[in-house]
Amino acid sequence: MVFERREVIGGAAVTEELWPGVKASTASYVCSLFDKQIIKDLDLYKHGFVFLAKEPQSFSPMLNGNHFFIYGDAPRTKKEIARFSRKDAKAYDKYDKYLASLVDAINPILRQSPPDINDIFSVAKFGLKNVGLFNKIEDFTNIMSLSAKDFLDQWFESEEVKASFATDGIVGTFASPQTPGTAYVLLHHVMGNIKGRGIWGYVQGGMGGVSQALANSAEAYNVKIMTKTPIDKIIIENGVAVGVKTADKKIYRSKIIISNADPKRTFLNFVGEEHLDDVLRTKIKNYQTRASSFKINMLLDGLPNFECYPNKTDVPGPQHTGTIYICEDFDYMERAFDDAKYGMPSRNPVVEISMPSSMDKTLAPKGMYVAGCFVQYAPYKLKGTDWNKERQKFVKTAISTIRKYAPNIDDILVKVQGLSPIDLESRFGLTGGNIFHGDMIPNQLFFSRFKYKTPIKNLYLCGSGTHPGGGVSGLPGFNAAKAILDDKHIF
Ligand SMILES: Cc1cc2nc3c(=O)[nH]c(=O)nc-3n(C[C@H](O)[C@H](O)[C@H](O)COP(=O)(O)OP(=O)(O)OC[C@H]3O[C@@H](n4cnc5c(N)ncnc54)[C@H](O)[C@@H]3O)c2cc1C
Repeated sequence: MVFERREVIGGAAVTEELWPGVKASTASYVCSLFDKQIIKDLDLYKHGFVFLAKEPQSFSPMLNGNHFFIYGDAPRTKKEIARFSRKDAKAYDKYDKYLASLVDAINPILRQSPPDINDIFSVAKFGLKNVGLFNKIEDFTNIMSLSAKDFLDQWFESEEVKASFATDGIVGTFASPQTPGTAYVLLHHVMGNIKGRGIWGYVQGGMGGVSQALANSAEAYNVKIMTKTPIDKIIIENGVAVGVKTADKKIYRSKIIISNADPKRTFLNFVGEEHLDDVLRTKIKNYQTRASSFKINMLLDGLPNFECYPNKTDVPGPQHTGTIYICEDFDYMERAFDDAKYGMPSRNPVVEISMPSSMDKTLAPKGMYVAGCFVQYAPYKLKGTDWNKERQKFVKTAISTIRKYAPNIDDILVKVQGLSPIDLESRFGLTGGNIFHGDMIPNQLFFSRFKYKTPIKNLYLCGSGTHPGGGVSGLPGFNAAKAILDDKHIF
């Protein structure tokens, strides 16, 4: 039985009818990490999952009149890079091959429980199973410790090229591209392989299409899904999880309880501190869930017209199908983060715009488009003010940022919804407004993320707070299922 507190399933992978006849991916908006094996095992194409690969992958407009496209197709990307630097274009093949080799090495690890670092046998077993990894130890140490900027500086010289690649290193992370560890965040975003490595796309019907296909598949296995049923407590008797109590005070007993709510919510709200041992209590208290993102959902009745790449017709062009990155260079991103560091929303934010209805006609009436803007940086706690005062101001800031590149934005904007970190927390249940259930920083990854099997007998975690972390990948659930099946005492 699945209990969902909202009226709609999906959590952060959700489609909502935001305005009559308009469907929007109100939280997550693009897909790549979703695991192919899960799609196959659960027959998700049959259950309605449709992936629409973006091409181009991204479009970066520039104030100097130039622009930069990244394509799914490497030769086209190289040609585009060559407009900025021939040297970088030459380096691109090697860079791409290098990332591919890291992704290939790391892929099997994404589908395994990390070893218990305090248990030499567990570490040895893991090491023997993954001997191939040892050839890559130096590369992994580098990528876990380098900043996205330092990493990209090793390959490229053009600021424009590097800035476009660097956006993957800061999404959802309270860090600038110069923060050590952001090179890994970048790698995390090129690991997906639904339709080719690193290719991102939309899900037909919005990101809720992933969740709906999973729900359809689960229901075919007789899983019962109860919406509008918040869990109040996980019932612990003599240190063993034996059931849940819902907000309407009903009690459901079960042999296994699995939570994909974030670890802080699970352990502090549902379980209660009194049931945690000292190690877990310290870990949960020190676990970082810092917000950095603000989501804006828009309804447009026309296409944004970018000055550097004007619309030729009234149908969407390549500048609309790929994710649109507004982040001129590293200094721009660094300054945007500076504001957040001192407890303020960025005055000149990094804005990532996606227009899924440029490819998916099911989302909005003809001639209208939904657009999602993912805006960095937005700290959870603001100095001297709060998000109820700042929410609309920040929406205006983001729109005026877009206006510098696409001056017609005000003429086509019909509706707008702004979700600050406190709204992400209250609407989606994300503690601290952190989109990944906890920062994706080196000391919170792999064996340092939360384990599937908790110290409380029969209680398991299966959400983004476990390895391999945030993103619509399905992998925390996949690994949790294996961990539960391996846990012989249950069956
Ligand atoms: C704004 C935003 C943008 C993002 N963009 C992307 C993107 O483009 N691509 C990508 O791959 N990833 C993206 N992510 C990250 C990704 O969406 C998440 O990592 C992923 O969806 C988390 O899935 P989950 O199952 O671990 O947890 P969640 O989706 O958070 O699910 C937890 C569920 O628990 C429910 N819950 C909480 N409390 C209770 C309770 N008391 N009782 C019952 N139910 C409860 C919640 O309602 C929710 O449904 C984004 C996230 C956000 C917030």
